[in-house]
Amino acid sequence: MTIRGIRRNGIARGAGAAIVLSVTAAALVSCGGSSPSPADPTVGATQPAARPVPTAAGVDPSISRDSEDGGKTVNLTLDDGPDPVWTPRFLDLLAKHHAKAVFCVLGPNAKAHPDLLGRIVDAGHRLCDHTVHHDTAMDKKPADYQAREILDAKDMIDQASGGRPIQYYRAPGGAFTPESRQIAAAHGMRPLGWNVDPSDYQRPGVDTIVTRVQQQLAKGPTVLLHDGGGNREQTFQALEKLLTWFDAQGYHYSFPKA
Ligand SMILES: [Zn+2]
Repeated sequence: MTIRGIRRNGIARGAGAAIVLSVTAAALVSCGGSSPSPADPTVGATQPAARPVPTAAGVDPSISRDSEDGGKTVNLTLDDGPDPVWTPRFLDLLAKHHAKAVFCVLGPNAKAHPDLLGRIVDAGHRLCDHTVHHDTAMDKKPADYQAREILDAKDMIDQASGGRPIQYYRAPGGAFTPESRQIAAAHGMRPLGWNVDPSDYQRPGVDTIVTRVQQQLAKGPTVLLHDGGGNREQTFQALEKLLTWFDAQGYHYSFPKA
């Protein structure tokens, strides 16, 4: 596929230069087990010192973690699917609790399972572009490569979903760069981070996942979990317990600001 001209035009080099470096532990533990991403000084930052100028598409290129709604909220995000075994189970579980989630899908998985993309959006969940190859070192590669990873996946997701909105972009392992954030925002996708990372993909045990989420929620509302990329039985069981706990604690389910 060719690279669209807007990719280059949409890149505002140095847009992140004025951002104060404030890397938290959450940024060092990544989805898929990569190294942290020093190329983007805003990764892991809880409070940007300067708000980047929105792009032509009107989307803020800074990393979103806050809820759209006020009050006691949680934003669930499920990465690396859709998966034909696990995603339907997660959809059923979320429906049982009237919970909403952002599904950060890989382009090839979306292409292989358009039916699941349809189920996700029809149930009121939101879509997030999680690239083609899940390259957790993409922040160390040229901007053209990053653009292809993001926009080729967007094309695959668009085709699989029939052009339903893709509100977010999440770099694999949090490997954002100022360039990739601008590319995503220029195409209508808000960069999406997280506050809570229980490392569920490492399968540390159901109760460990539950406890980590409960403890880390003090840092913010956006929770990183996985419905793809391997056997997700532990994540599923943990989410089942967590949803019951969220309901009992009076949380309501929101979305990260798009
Ligand atoms: Zn991932």
